[in-house]
Amino acid sequence: MDDRFVTFEIGKAKHIALVAHDGKKKEMVDWCDRNKDILKNHFLCGTGTTARLISERTGLPVKAYNSGPLGGDQQIGAKIVEGQIDFMVFLWDPLEAQPHDPDVKALLRIAVVYDIPVANNLATADFMLQSKYMSESYDRTVENFNKTIQDRVNKMK
Ligand code: PGA
Repeated sequence: MDDRFVTFEIGKAKHIALVAHDGKKKEMVDWCDRNKDILKNHFLCGTGTTARLISERTGLPVKAYNSGPLGGDQQIGAKIVEGQIDFMVFLWDPLEAQPHDPDVKALLRIAVVYDIPVANNLATADFMLQSKYMSESYDRTVENFNKTIQDRVNKMK
């Protein structure tokens, strides 16, 4: 691969972020409950309310960040940048305006930048969970930020 890109390994055990808007929380909790035998093999985290509801229903440990409207989406975005989250199920609600819409957009964008698998609806989440990569490692491809910074610095000198 050319030096504009680097790869990061998504290990066998995924670091999964779970986020659901209010209108989608029931779907999310039911989906996690149906799939808890798979999810228990991975590290789970989520925005505050979503995380709490999932762990109460399934009994699985889910690390809780702040509530989405209070910065939880941004915290999850930051963890993606730091390489600590590498898989996401984000059930955003297409029928309801959100006060933190810019944060939602930012999180979706950064997930693409870091080439992490993202499901925005249950069908995609089901396909992802049944993927052969769930029990293997996978190399995701990310822009080589060291090179990018060096190129930008060179250009600005
Ligand atoms: P919540 O946040 O899990 O705290 O409700 C979700 C969101 O709105 O992003």
